Amino acid sequence: MIKSTQPVASDTVPDAPTQPRHEMHNRWPRAESVSDFQANLAAVQARIDAACLRVNRDPAQVRLLPVSKTMDEAHIRLAHQAGCFLLGENKVQEAWGKAQAMADLTDLRWSVIGHLQSNKAKLVAKFASEFQALDSLHTAEILDRRLQAEGRTLDVFVQVNTSNEPSKYGLAADEVAAFMLKLRPFSCLRVQGLMTLAEFSSDAVRVRACFVRLRQLSQQLAQQHGALQLSMGMSGDFEIAIEEGATVVRVGQAIFGARSLPDDYFWPSR
Ligand SMILES: *Cc1c(COP(=O)(O)O)cnc(C)c1O
Repeated sequence: MIKSTQPVASDTVPDAPTQPRHEMHNRWPRAESVSDFQANLAAVQARIDAACLRVNRDPAQVRLLPVSKTMDEAHIRLAHQAGCFLLGENKVQEAWGKAQAMADLTDLRWSVIGHLQSNKAKLVAKFASEFQALDSLHTAEILDRRLQAEGRTLDVFVQVNTSNEPSKYGLAADEVAAFMLKLRPFSCLRVQGLMTLAEFSSDAVRVRACFVRLRQLSQQLAQQHGALQLSMGMSGDFEIAIEEGATVVRVGQAIFGARSLPDDYFWPSR
């Protein structure tokens, strides 16, 4: 009788592969009080901790970025009271409006995580503390010039299209190395890492493949650029992202509750 050999466990994939939770998409209950936000933040943190435990990572290496897009000022103030001090927004105009309306919250900072048209770069330079969707040299040039004028610096992430969907923003993986070198002269841009959106799919294998691509890319770039952060994973797939090395997860609906605007308002033709 031939004994079957045990399958070889891959680097990080746990025994029972983690599944995306897209069945909750647009169904998370709205947080309406500080204690709702505290409970949701604790639940998300517990999921982060569990994912880290599965792959022997330290949860302190994973930063949770709450995403407040479409949420109104009243709800954002509740989130702030519950301990959110850096918020992700997809659209710069919306973020700028909120930053002005809540300028009294001096410890509240803004991360722009969506595609930026170069004519809006000026605005980002004015108020954002982080920009996660850099994918154009022209935008980088304008940002750097405006930041110099403002006497500010900006943490940036280079967005990579890991799903190869033509509708997605971000550079192709094989363009990133050259792009990173071209960013070097821009002294006001502090390149922190890479960002991606995985394919929106209930097929865990396809989702994981996107995150693996970003990690492998960062490993290829490490010699030139040192350790890069990996911003990957959202409400429905951040556990898989953490298993593959995410150091930043961008979580909206699992903290704030479902949005009423459809996703293709933010991600063209999903
Ligand atoms: C909205 C958004 C997120 C968060 O998505 P959720 O499903 O609300 O967790 C993450 N990244 C980007 C770029 C986004 O626009």
